[in-house]
Amino acid sequence: MIDSHCHLDFDAFDGIREDVIEEARTAGIHTIINVGADLASSERSVKLAQTHDAIRATVGIHPHDAKTLTDGTFAQLKKLAATDRVVAIGEIGLDYYRDLSPRPVQRKTFNRQLQLAVEMKMPVVIHTREAFEETIEIVEKYAHNLPGGVFHCFSGDAGDASRVFDLGFIISVGGVITYKNSGMARMAAEVPLDKIMLETDAPYLTPVPHRGKTNRPAYVSLVCDKLAELRGVPAGEIEKVTDRTCRKLFRLVETFGG
Ligand SMILES: [Zn+2]
Repeated sequence: MIDSHCHLDFDAFDGIREDVIEEARTAGIHTIINVGADLASSERSVKLAQTHDAIRATVGIHPHDAKTLTDGTFAQLKKLAATDRVVAIGEIGLDYYRDLSPRPVQRKTFNRQLQLAVEMKMPVVIHTREAFEETIEIVEKYAHNLPGGVFHCFSGDAGDASRVFDLGFIISVGGVITYKNSGMARMAAEVPLDKIMLETDAPYLTPVPHRGKTNRPAYVSLVCDKLAELRGVPAGEIEKVTDRTCRKLFRLVETFGG
């Protein structure tokens, strides 16, 4: 099974990082995509990928940190993106819920990194919160020149999801589908299975029954089990299809068979 989105480089894993990676491996998580959030996090993400067989990295500036993108950091990001074991640009996007960077700056940083992905011929990992319309409008300008992308932790309904699919993009779902009255769960039960990837977004969004604890890649199996329950198909089938989708998006070499 693959955890298609987590942040093992974050402080929450200081002191337990290697244990958490080993725990995931033992639990059958053969591949982990570690997602960069700013330049320093992207650098750490690449380092993790270079020192662990199971890990691949993405590099990018999260909308919260959009204001940290300068010509200097952009040049460094571009250099990192060309590094071995980097599979995508992300996470990038718009967050109008927390508004931690001014919106015009978020838009500029988002556009610039989408342009970088086009140049590098890399897929993108998109974060969008309370900014879906604008995110779609911006992504539309680049989508036909990109080898795909994912709207991660997708919180829209099935109608919104179909607009993502129309762009040739896919979605990923995480622990939120295990929460009570989850709109994400309803959506995940309805959309085509081959357009979904599994993620944890660890250390955040811990699935039931571990809420309150630090999330970790091993818990992606709980997301898989829940999606299986919601769709009425065996967990093995969910694992097979979502792994295939993830390998295709991030162009992962088939080294593990599973
Ligand atoms: Zn994330």
